[in-house]
Order: sequence, then C-alpha cells, then structure tokens
Amino acid sequence: MPFISKSKFLWGLQCQKLLWHAYNAKNLIPEPDASQQAIFDQGHEVGALAKLLFPGGIEVGQGIVDIETVLQLSEKTIKQRRPLFEAAFAFDGGYARVDILNPVEEDSWDIIEVKSSTSVKDVYLPDLAFQTFVYSGAGLKIRRCFVLHINNDYVRRGDIDPRLLFKKVDVTAQVSDLSQRIEIQLEGMSKIIRLKESPEVPIGKHCDTPYECPLHDHCWKFLSADNPLTLYRGKEKGFKLLAAGITQLGKIPENVPLNDKQIIQRDVARTGQPHISKRAIKEFLAQLEFPLYFLDFETIGSAIPLFDNTSPFQQIPFQFSLHVQPSPGGKTKHLSYLAQGRNDPRREFLEELRNVMGEVGTVIAYNAPFEKGVLDASAEIHTQFKLWVKQIKRRVVDLLIPFRAFRYYHPQQHGSASIKSVLPAITGRSYKDLEIQEGGTASREFLRVTFSDVAKAEREKVRSQLEIYCGQDTEGMVWIVDELRNLVES
Ligand code: SF4
Repeated sequence: MPFISKSKFLWGLQCQKLLWHAYNAKNLIPEPDASQQAIFDQGHEVGALAKLLFPGGIEVGQGIVDIETVLQLSEKTIKQRRPLFEAAFAFDGGYARVDILNPVEEDSWDIIEVKSSTSVKDVYLPDLAFQTFVYSGAGLKIRRCFVLHINNDYVRRGDIDPRLLFKKVDVTAQVSDLSQRIEIQLEGMSKIIRLKESPEVPIGKHCDTPYECPLHDHCWKFLSADNPLTLYRGKEKGFKLLAAGITQLGKIPENVPLNDKQIIQRDVARTGQPHISKRAIKEFLAQLEFPLYFLDFETIGSAIPLFDNTSPFQQIPFQFSLHVQPSPGGKTKHLSYLAQGRNDPRREFLEELRNVMGEVGTVIAYNAPFEKGVLDASAEIHTQFKLWVKQIKRRVVDLLIPFRAFRYYHPQQHGSASIKSVLPAITGRSYKDLEIQEGGTASREFLRVTFSDVAKAEREKVRSQLEIYCGQDTEGMVWIVDELRNLVES
C-alpha cells in the first residue's frame, strides 16, 4: 500500500473517485496546464521568500523525490534543532513534507504552512490537521500551527521585505479539532484506494470545490453543450435536474421554477433562435455618443509585487487597445500601447492613453468596472492624471450590461455573458484561431517575455500575438455594437 501524501489526502476529502484514480488510473489525470503551472511557480517564489524569515534554516532533500531517502534525511537533520524546509515524515500510511518546521522551546516544533493567498482559507485547515497528525505520530512534539499568507496591505518600497509581505495566523485550535478525525479518514481512504474499480461518484459541486478537480473534463464529458448546468446562476438547480435525468435545457419541464433569465435560456434552446429585446437594445444604443472609443486593458498582477508602490495582486496595466469609430458602422481607427522593458508601465500607459482619447464621445468597455478600477488605482500614484481619469470615467458605458441583463441572448452563449461567448454567438467570429485566446495567457506571456531571458525573436513573436489578442477584444466590441444596431434597425 503506497503512502497517502498530503495532496492525495486533500483529493480524497474532495472526492473518492479522484482519490482512486490518483492511485489506480493516474494516466487519466492530466499534467497541470500553463495556468496551474503558473500558480505552482508563484507558490515556489512565495515559499522562497518565506524561508528568509527563518535564518539558518536547512533545506531537506531538495530536489529528491524518493520518499524513503527524504524520510531518512529528515530523521537525521531534525536532530540539529534548526528551522527545516520540506522535511518529511510518515505515520500510519500518511506522508507529509512540511513547508517550514520551526524549533521552539526545549523540544517542540511549530508547523508553518506558506500560502500565496491573502487570507486563511477553510481548505488549509484539514491540510494542516493532516500534517499535525503525521508529525505527531512520527514522534515530533507539535506546539502550534500557523498559516503564513500574503499580506494584501503590503506596499512595496524598494526590495521586498518578507517581514511585511507576510501575515502569520495561528490556527492551532481549529487544526487540533480536525486532527482527531484524520486516523479514521486515512483508514477510509486506504480502503477506497484498494478497490478493484473506481467508486461511482456523480458530478456535483464538489468537482469545483475547493479546487477544480483534475478529472473534471473526464467526468463531465457526457454533458451536452446545452446542459442544465449552463443555467445562468443555476448550478444547484442544474445538478438537481441532471439527477432527475434532464440533460438538456430545452427539456426542462414547465413546472420547474426558473427565473426570467433561465426561462429565456430554456426558450431559446427550444427554438434555436436568439432572444432579442429590441426596445432595451435601442435604449442602450441611444446613449452612445460618437465618436465611439472601444477600449480594453490587459494587466499583470502577482503575489510578490513587481514594482514600487504596488501591492500583492494589484493589477498593473501593461497594454491597451483602442478602436475609434467616428460614425455608426463607420470605418474604425486602431490605436494601441504595449509596454516595453521591465519598468513600471503605469505612467507611460496613462500618458499614451490620454494622448489618443479625444475629449468627447462614449468610451465602451466590456465589464467596465475593471478598466475604471485600473485607471483609478494608477492615478492614485500618478495624481496628475486624476482629473482626466474622472472625466474619462464619466464617459464610460459597459457593453456587458445588455448581455448580462439578457437583452440579447443566443443559445450558443451557453449561459455566459462574457465577450468570449458573446462575440462568436452574435457575429460568428471567435478567438479560436488566435495564439493568445484569453487574458490569463496574455498576462503570463507578457511576464515571460518581459521578465525572463528569451530570444528577441520569441519576444517579438509574443508581443505581436498580444497586439492581435487585445486588438480582437476591442474590434470584437465594434462588431458586436454594429450587429446590435443591425438587429434593431432591421
Ligand atoms: S470531476 Fe467530480 S466526480 Fe469526477 S473525480 Fe473529480 S470531483 Fe469526482
């Protein structure tokens, strides 16, 4: 029987089927994708900074994956009574490597779990309870358990100061309650792992809680595109309908209570035709004043602030795209900015944007609070832009609003009002052929080619992909507004 590691234990708490697959059908569990890998990489960077708070600490078995070797090394190193990083212990079938084990008092230890989040999440508690159970069982005297998480009030000034970047929260009491259950939970998990076949577990909310399950695509692939889980804000109802054997929106019986938006979804699924509220769309269009400025930002944000005067996870704009349309259906002009180099781009970003924004005309953004928030936060530092930002914000209209309100709803939106769903549904054009297809990839790629050493040709290639991607977001808005106009005028 192999050890149950901390991560597998957490998987076991999330779903028995996932646990079984982790030991019996690993090949079905995909490798982390680029976005998950970026989260892991960030975790490693945060972990490295946290270790600076424990001078004299020893890395135990760095890079070694063989469990027995790491166990032996940990057993040997612990005698030194110094802070230990990644020391491993095993007990009762459980195996755990602790982020930081800190010697306290004569013979005790504190467990410190480092997290890249800005608060203590519930899922951290069973994680620490499992570790406490294993280390105590292995003979360590555990005094307290802490979560060391990112302090989102931290503002970088010069070099990162780990004493200010982190917050240390004592969770000993919560963890101690949970530790009592670990033995029974491990016993149950061992039985699951030894089953000849995977337990049958229906899909449910647990597939995305506390984390998206790596078997998500595998388990959910039976669903049709218009399944009841696509009901707008109706996941719970959707699971009930699935459990009752209703697998398509159009088949939801009349007596099932649905809200107005969900009724529209069911109706368009039946007819295959979009729902269009002409009056509301006309009202929306009537408020637009030409020239129209279609605006979109791309941003970066990281747990460890990159620049002075920024906080953890603060979104820093590095790119904008602007399409200017002088008259209804008129030919547009495209303007853009993409930061060069490794300096804080905010000042230049604001200057470039101010240079190309005329003084009159509606500014259209999709999910406008994001763009407004980025402008406000940037002007907080570069205060000479405050008045201009205030004026620009008054001109902003959010193109998301008519779609979120279901004034227009197409069956191919599958319950989503995001531009990535609306654009293909309403115009037939999509992001599929683009190298960069969404904002997360845009941020990662910008960071990669800007802050790591890549060949010039690679950097230029990615920068041109970024221009194309962000440009499509604003040109897509032009197409959407043109299409809305055609719809209400036809
Ligand atoms: S997708 Fe859901 S049902 Fe499938 S293994 Fe994961 S949590 Fe379990």
